[in-house]
Amino acid sequence: MAETTTTPAVLILLGPPGAGKGTQARMLEERFGLIQLSTGDLLRAAVAEGTPAGLAAKSVMEAGGLVSDEIVLAILKDRMERPDVKAGVILDGFPRTAGQAEALDALLTAGGQKVSAAISLEVDDEAMIDRVAGRFTCATCGEGYHDTHKQTAREGVCDKCGGTEFKRRADDNAETARERLKAYHAQTAPLIAHYRKMGVLETVDAMGSIDDIASALGTIVSGASA
Ligand code: AMP
Repeated sequence: MAETTTTPAVLILLGPPGAGKGTQARMLEERFGLIQLSTGDLLRAAVAEGTPAGLAAKSVMEAGGLVSDEIVLAILKDRMERPDVKAGVILDGFPRTAGQAEALDALLTAGGQKVSAAISLEVDDEAMIDRVAGRFTCATCGEGYHDTHKQTAREGVCDKCGGTEFKRRADDNAETARERLKAYHAQTAPLIAHYRKMGVLETVDAMGSIDDIASALGTIVSGASA
Protein backbone atom coordinates (compact mmCIF):
# COMPACT_ATOMS: atom_id res chain seq x y z
CA MET A 1 0.00 0.00 0.00
CA ALA A 2 1.32 3.43 -0.92
CA GLU A 3 1.88 5.87 1.95
CA THR A 4 -0.57 8.76 1.76
CA THR A 5 0.30 12.42 1.45
CA THR A 6 -1.90 15.25 2.68
CA THR A 7 -1.09 17.82 -0.01
CA PRO A 8 -0.19 16.97 -3.60
CA ALA A 9 3.57 17.16 -3.73
CA VAL A 10 5.54 18.53 -6.65
CA LEU A 11 8.98 17.00 -6.43
CA ILE A 12 11.86 17.63 -8.79
CA LEU A 13 14.75 15.22 -9.23
CA LEU A 14 17.87 16.99 -10.50
CA GLY A 15 21.03 15.19 -11.53
CA PRO A 16 23.13 14.24 -14.54
CA PRO A 17 22.31 11.27 -16.78
CA GLY A 18 22.95 8.06 -14.88
CA ALA A 19 22.41 9.60 -11.43
CA GLY A 20 19.44 7.31 -10.86
CA LYS A 21 16.57 9.77 -11.34
CA GLY A 22 14.39 7.27 -13.21
CA THR A 23 15.03 4.39 -10.82
CA GLN A 24 14.40 6.53 -7.76
CA ALA A 25 11.33 8.20 -9.29
CA ARG A 26 9.77 4.77 -9.92
CA MET A 27 10.47 3.75 -6.32
CA LEU A 28 8.95 6.97 -4.96
CA GLU A 29 5.96 6.50 -7.23
CA GLU A 30 5.30 3.09 -5.72
CA ARG A 31 5.94 4.14 -2.14
CA PHE A 32 4.04 7.43 -2.08
CA GLY A 33 1.47 6.93 -4.85
CA LEU A 34 2.91 9.88 -6.77
CA ILE A 35 3.10 10.04 -10.55
CA GLN A 36 6.51 9.87 -12.21
CA LEU A 37 6.63 12.40 -14.99
CA SER A 38 9.69 11.94 -17.19
CA THR A 39 10.05 14.32 -20.13
CA GLY A 40 12.61 11.87 -21.57
CA ASP A 41 9.96 9.10 -21.56
CA LEU A 42 7.36 11.45 -23.04
CA LEU A 43 9.77 12.51 -25.78
CA ARG A 44 10.78 8.90 -26.54
CA ALA A 45 7.06 8.05 -26.87
CA ALA A 46 6.61 11.00 -29.25
CA VAL A 47 9.60 9.80 -31.30
CA ALA A 48 8.18 6.26 -31.43
CA GLU A 49 4.76 7.56 -32.50
CA GLY A 50 6.34 9.82 -35.14
CA THR A 51 4.43 12.93 -33.99
CA PRO A 52 5.70 16.33 -35.28
CA ALA A 53 7.28 16.97 -31.86
CA GLY A 54 8.90 13.53 -31.94
CA LEU A 55 10.29 14.08 -35.43
CA ALA A 56 11.82 17.40 -34.35
CA ALA A 57 13.25 15.92 -31.13
CA LYS A 58 14.76 12.71 -32.52
CA SER A 59 18.08 13.96 -33.92
CA VAL A 60 18.66 16.30 -30.95
CA MET A 61 18.17 13.40 -28.52
CA GLU A 62 20.45 11.12 -30.53
CA ALA A 63 23.18 13.76 -30.37
CA GLY A 64 22.79 14.19 -26.61
CA GLY A 65 21.57 17.80 -26.82
CA LEU A 66 18.53 19.39 -25.23
CA VAL A 67 15.22 19.50 -27.06
CA SER A 68 13.79 23.04 -27.39
CA ASP A 69 11.89 24.48 -24.43
CA GLU A 70 8.91 25.02 -26.74
CA ILE A 71 8.53 21.31 -27.52
CA VAL A 72 9.28 20.10 -24.00
CA LEU A 73 6.89 22.57 -22.38
CA ALA A 74 4.07 21.66 -24.77
CA ILE A 75 4.52 17.96 -23.96
CA LEU A 76 4.81 18.62 -20.23
CA LYS A 77 1.74 20.86 -20.04
CA ASP A 78 -0.28 18.31 -21.95
CA ARG A 79 0.69 15.62 -19.45
CA MET A 80 0.05 17.88 -16.44
CA GLU A 81 -3.55 18.29 -17.59
CA ARG A 82 -4.34 14.61 -17.07
CA PRO A 83 -6.29 14.00 -13.83
CA ASP A 84 -3.89 11.40 -12.36
CA VAL A 85 -1.30 14.10 -11.56
CA LYS A 86 -3.59 15.38 -8.81
CA ALA A 87 -2.00 12.77 -6.54
CA GLY A 88 1.28 14.69 -6.82
CA VAL A 89 4.19 14.36 -9.23
CA ILE A 90 7.85 13.53 -9.35
CA LEU A 91 9.42 15.46 -12.19
CA ASP A 92 12.26 13.36 -13.60
CA GLY A 93 14.45 15.16 -16.12
CA PHE A 94 12.42 18.37 -16.01
CA PRO A 95 13.13 21.27 -15.72
CA ARG A 96 16.48 21.22 -17.50
CA THR A 97 16.87 24.90 -18.43
CA ALA A 98 16.23 28.24 -16.70
CA GLY A 99 13.36 28.87 -19.15
CA GLN A 100 11.72 25.55 -18.20
CA ALA A 101 12.13 26.29 -14.48
CA GLU A 102 10.46 29.68 -14.90
CA ALA A 103 7.64 28.19 -16.97
CA LEU A 104 7.10 25.52 -14.31
CA ASP A 105 6.98 28.11 -11.52
CA ALA A 106 4.36 30.08 -13.51
CA LEU A 107 2.32 26.96 -14.27
CA LEU A 108 2.28 25.92 -10.61
CA THR A 109 1.49 29.41 -9.33
CA ALA A 110 -1.47 29.60 -11.72
CA GLY A 111 -2.78 26.34 -10.25
CA GLY A 112 -2.20 27.43 -6.63
CA GLN A 113 0.73 25.04 -6.22
CA LYS A 114 4.46 25.30 -5.72
CA VAL A 115 7.55 23.12 -5.81
CA SER A 116 7.66 21.05 -2.60
CA ALA A 117 11.29 20.00 -2.96
CA ALA A 118 13.98 19.98 -5.64
CA ILE A 119 16.35 17.13 -4.86
CA SER A 120 19.81 17.20 -6.38
CA LEU A 121 21.37 13.75 -6.78
CA GLU A 122 25.09 14.33 -6.32
CA VAL A 123 27.36 12.00 -8.28
CA ASP A 124 30.77 11.62 -9.82
CA ASP A 125 30.88 12.50 -13.57
CA GLU A 126 33.18 9.72 -14.79
CA ALA A 127 31.16 7.04 -13.01
CA MET A 128 28.08 8.35 -14.82
CA ILE A 129 29.54 7.64 -18.27
CA ASP A 130 30.15 4.02 -17.25
CA ARG A 131 26.69 3.68 -15.68
CA VAL A 132 24.89 5.07 -18.72
CA ALA A 133 26.91 3.24 -21.36
CA GLY A 134 26.26 -0.19 -19.77
CA ARG A 135 22.61 0.04 -18.85
CA PHE A 136 19.66 -1.80 -20.34
CA THR A 137 16.12 -2.63 -19.24
CA CYS A 138 13.65 -5.49 -19.44
CA ALA A 139 11.32 -4.73 -22.36
CA THR A 140 8.40 -6.28 -20.47
CA CYS A 141 8.55 -4.80 -16.94
CA GLY A 142 11.17 -2.05 -17.23
CA GLU A 143 13.50 -3.48 -14.56
CA GLY A 144 16.94 -1.90 -14.98
CA TYR A 145 20.21 -3.83 -15.44
CA HIS A 146 23.86 -3.08 -16.20
CA ASP A 147 26.43 -5.00 -18.27
CA THR A 148 28.86 -5.26 -15.34
CA HIS A 149 27.23 -3.89 -12.17
CA LYS A 150 23.82 -5.57 -12.26
CA GLN A 151 23.48 -8.57 -14.52
CA THR A 152 20.45 -10.85 -14.62
CA ALA A 153 20.80 -13.93 -12.38
CA ARG A 154 20.06 -16.18 -15.39
CA GLU A 155 21.53 -14.98 -18.65
CA GLY A 156 18.88 -13.42 -20.88
CA VAL A 157 16.04 -13.76 -18.33
CA CYS A 158 14.65 -10.86 -16.29
CA ASP A 159 14.93 -11.53 -12.52
CA LYS A 160 11.71 -9.69 -11.85
CA CYS A 161 9.23 -10.91 -14.48
CA GLY A 162 10.98 -13.69 -16.41
CA GLY A 163 10.86 -11.66 -19.64
CA THR A 164 13.47 -12.47 -22.26
CA GLU A 165 13.42 -9.27 -24.32
CA PHE A 166 15.68 -6.40 -23.29
CA LYS A 167 16.20 -2.93 -24.68
CA ARG A 168 18.86 -0.25 -24.69
CA ARG A 169 18.23 3.44 -25.27
CA ALA A 170 19.70 4.79 -28.52
CA ASP A 171 21.44 7.58 -26.55
CA ASP A 172 22.98 5.30 -23.89
CA ASN A 173 26.49 5.11 -25.33
CA ALA A 174 29.70 6.72 -24.02
CA GLU A 175 29.94 9.38 -26.72
CA THR A 176 26.35 10.64 -26.38
CA ALA A 177 26.54 10.35 -22.59
CA ARG A 178 29.46 12.82 -22.62
CA GLU A 179 27.36 15.28 -24.62
CA ARG A 180 24.42 14.81 -22.24
CA LEU A 181 26.72 15.44 -19.29
CA LYS A 182 28.00 18.64 -20.93
CA ALA A 183 24.41 19.81 -21.48
CA TYR A 184 23.66 19.04 -17.83
CA HIS A 185 26.54 21.14 -16.53
CA ALA A 186 25.93 24.02 -18.93
CA GLN A 187 22.16 24.31 -18.70
CA THR A 188 20.71 22.25 -15.85
CA ALA A 189 23.20 22.44 -12.95
CA PRO A 190 22.58 26.23 -12.64
CA LEU A 191 19.01 25.38 -11.56
CA ILE A 192 20.43 24.12 -8.26
CA ALA A 193 21.02 27.78 -7.30
CA HIS A 194 17.47 28.68 -8.44
CA TYR A 195 15.91 26.14 -6.07
CA ARG A 196 18.32 26.98 -3.25
CA LYS A 197 17.15 30.58 -3.52
CA MET A 198 13.53 29.40 -3.36
CA GLY A 199 14.37 27.51 -0.16
CA VAL A 200 13.34 24.10 -1.51
CA LEU A 201 16.70 22.56 -2.42
CA GLU A 202 17.75 19.23 -0.91
CA THR A 203 20.91 17.33 -1.82
CA VAL A 204 21.49 13.58 -1.62
CA ASP A 205 24.75 11.69 -2.09
CA ALA A 206 23.76 9.40 -4.96
CA MET A 207 26.93 7.31 -5.23
CA GLY A 208 25.68 4.76 -2.68
CA SER A 209 23.37 1.77 -3.05
CA ILE A 210 19.95 2.17 -4.66
CA ASP A 211 18.28 1.29 -1.34
CA ASP A 212 20.33 3.80 0.69
CA ILE A 213 19.49 6.56 -1.79
CA ALA A 214 15.82 5.55 -1.77
CA SER A 215 15.80 5.75 2.00
CA ALA A 216 17.35 9.25 2.01
CA LEU A 217 14.80 10.39 -0.59
CA GLY A 218 11.94 8.81 1.34
CA THR A 219 12.84 10.88 4.39
CA ILE A 220 12.85 14.08 2.35
CA VAL A 221 9.58 13.26 0.57
CA SER A 222 7.80 12.39 3.83
CA GLY A 223 8.78 15.81 5.15
CA ALA A 224 7.96 17.64 1.91
CA SER A 225 4.50 16.16 1.57
CA ALA A 226 3.44 16.14 5.23
P1 AMP B 1 16.34 11.49 -20.16
O1 AMP B 1 15.48 10.29 -20.39
O2 AMP B 1 15.81 12.39 -19.09
O3 AMP B 1 17.79 11.14 -19.98
O4 AMP B 1 16.27 12.36 -21.50
C1 AMP B 1 16.74 11.85 -22.73
C2 AMP B 1 16.91 12.99 -23.73
O5 AMP B 1 15.64 13.61 -23.96
C3 AMP B 1 17.81 14.12 -23.27
O6 AMP B 1 19.19 13.85 -23.54
C4 AMP B 1 17.29 15.28 -24.10
O7 AMP B 1 17.72 15.21 -25.45
C5 AMP B 1 15.79 15.02 -24.08
N1 AMP B 1 15.12 15.66 -22.93
C6 AMP B 1 14.49 15.03 -21.89
N2 AMP B 1 13.97 15.91 -21.04
C7 AMP B 1 14.29 17.14 -21.53
C8 AMP B 1 14.06 18.46 -21.09
N3 AMP B 1 13.38 18.72 -19.93
N4 AMP B 1 14.52 19.49 -21.85
C9 AMP B 1 15.19 19.27 -23.00
N5 AMP B 1 15.46 18.03 -23.47
C10 AMP B 1 15.01 16.98 -22.75
